[in-house]
Amino acid sequence: MKILIDNGHGINTAGKCSPDKRLREYAWSRDCARRLVAALSQEGYDAELITPEDWDVKLQTRVARVNNICKAVGSRNCLLVSIHNNAGGGDGKWHDACGWSVFVSKNSSENSKKLARMLTVEAMKRELMGNRSVPLQKYWTWSWTDKDIYILKNTACPAVLTENMFQDHKGDVDYLLSEDGMKELVDLHFVSIINYIKSL
Ligand SMILES: [Zn+2]
Repeated sequence: MKILIDNGHGINTAGKCSPDKRLREYAWSRDCARRLVAALSQEGYDAELITPEDWDVKLQTRVARVNNICKAVGSRNCLLVSIHNNAGGGDGKWHDACGWSVFVSKNSSENSKKLARMLTVEAMKRELMGNRSVPLQKYWTWSWTDKDIYILKNTACPAVLTENMFQDHKGDVDYLLSEDGMKELVDLHFVSIINYIKSL
């Protein structure tokens, strides 16, 4: 199984930081993604960063990278996890929404949903749901809009996008910037991905 890890936005993406600028989504998600790939590789898994660059890489380019690998090894032998931090307002102010969530596209496969559910189960075990209400199916979609999540919709393999707490919630930002918080969120992905692979 080829485990593909994408780390969202780049250093030049506008916004995408905590109101006090302590947390920048591009930096946090890269640190998380790199640690996750290292942990999986150390266990003998074939894990790879889709976006090793620090700068913003176009969604179309990232999708092409994933789909080229899918073509080479077969879609059923790949999975994609895109790592992000959520935001409540995007207006440079602190907000109340907090907690962890995972998204799939509206056209997602059963395996995408399965991987998302397994991630949610691990997040619930770690009591990371904050004040998010967890849907019965244990994953989220962009149900409020006709749009969909480009990188999930257009990649050929099972694919999920994790929103690791809120970058505009004070408690979440403290947690995200702590070494314990980072380690726990890396471990959440690590355990869930391995559980998913073993379940196939
Ligand atoms: Zn993001």
